Amino acid sequence: MKNLLILGAGTAGTMMANHLTKKLPKQEWQITIVDQHETHYYQPGFLFLPFDIYTEDQVKKDGTKFIPKSVEYIQKKIELIQPEANCVQLEGGEQVNYDLLIIATGSTIAPEEIEGMDGPMWHKNIFDFYTYEGAKALRDKLREWEGGKLVVHVTEMPIKCPVAPLEFAFLADSYFKNKGMRDKVEITYVTPLDGAFTKPRAAKALDYLLEEKDIKEVTSFNIERVDYENNKIIDYADVEVEYDLLVTVPTNMGDSVIERSGIGDDLNFVSTNKGSLQSKEYENVFVIGDATNLPTSKAGSVAHFEAEILTENILRYIKGEQLEEAFDGHANCFVETGNGKALLIDFNYVHEPVEGTFPIPGIGPLRLLKESKANHLGKLAFRWVYWNMLLKGVPIPFVSAKMNEKGKKLETVNT
Ligand SMILES: Cc1cc2nc3c(=O)[nH]c(=O)nc-3n(C[C@H](O)[C@H](O)[C@H](O)COP(=O)(O)OP(=O)(O)OC[C@H]3O[C@@H](n4cnc5c(N)ncnc54)[C@H](O)[C@@H]3O)c2cc1C
Repeated sequence: MKNLLILGAGTAGTMMANHLTKKLPKQEWQITIVDQHETHYYQPGFLFLPFDIYTEDQVKKDGTKFIPKSVEYIQKKIELIQPEANCVQLEGGEQVNYDLLIIATGSTIAPEEIEGMDGPMWHKNIFDFYTYEGAKALRDKLREWEGGKLVVHVTEMPIKCPVAPLEFAFLADSYFKNKGMRDKVEITYVTPLDGAFTKPRAAKALDYLLEEKDIKEVTSFNIERVDYENNKIIDYADVEVEYDLLVTVPTNMGDSVIERSGIGDDLNFVSTNKGSLQSKEYENVFVIGDATNLPTSKAGSVAHFEAEILTENILRYIKGEQLEEAFDGHANCFVETGNGKALLIDFNYVHEPVEGTFPIPGIGPLRLLKESKANHLGKLAFRWVYWNMLLKGVPIPFVSAKMNEKGKKLETVNT
């Protein structure tokens, strides 16, 4: 019997367990998955939790229910990955040997990287919404906040779902309007980028929306520290931005097990072949989702497209065939713009977000790079799709792993 070990039962790891259990012969392969938690969080829901749009129960479920029965589930912290010895050490001294390893340990926030960020004011007037605890604490704060300077801030790139902080700013605008107190809140969006988003074409559309909603923008802001005693963030050029309520996206990093194992870069992301998803260093190790160092978005949609391609490549690897460089960096994101509307963007390693229709060329029903109510309903419906189709590896009709180029005004970017 051979062992295929998956590290992390988040979006990517759970999808891989479901795909592979259907494809690998059970008499030859034992699949094992390890995660420190039993609860699976629907992280896109953390955007809605602070605004009381979703409840706590809508963003979490028992993750073990999504792991196929034939897969062994170990709920433990992973202490060390030892690729030279083909084994992994778990908390409590347990060792798991493998023939083939998939790293799907994701990324997490590291507020401790910035001086003063997670000090005494953390979750008092400095909040994140990238964790369940952060999003809940922020919801409680917003329920009673009486207004002032709200600063929505991004520490550094890459971050998962790079549009999420912008969406937060847009939803905050709607939230305070609906509460009849928008005139009491000054919203500022502070980013290290030179525009609202990493992709210039989408940035144009998003910069315009910030202006329309009277959200001030401070760009090229490289934060040095948070002065929590005087409520201001300060960057390396000594630019200061004052806040009463700071909602920040701290540095995003791969899990510390990657650092302990010596297999990551400065941010603990694992060096991965951008087309095949094989580790660049170890041929029987594959990497998927936020844990990779790939130059595409860290997003559930990306993990979904990667999972289809990685499944085929793992089958090829087992048969001794050449791997396909099939992953094109495809990412697909709904961008909430507030007032019950959203934009949809679709791009890959070489094409900027483009105008057109999705998922069916020329028909839609969703329109790319245009605000619409249908896109907003699509974003809300995605929660159902996530729990009932995506995690279980059920194909989503008309949505393909490779970006569909038909019927789009394509623009190529340098990679
Ligand atoms: C606020 C927010 C909004 C988002 N919105 C969107 C969106 O609209 N669309 C979209 O496509 N994506 C969105 N995302 C991003 C998406 O949720 C992630 O990209 C996706 O979950 C990545 O999947 P993953 O499997 O790589 O990592 P995760 O789902 O984070 O899973 C990693 C797993 O590994 C486990 N793990 C890590 N280290 C260890 C260890 N040492 N021991 C044991 N277990 C470990 C963790 O417990 C976790 O369960 C959003 C994310 C956030 C935070």
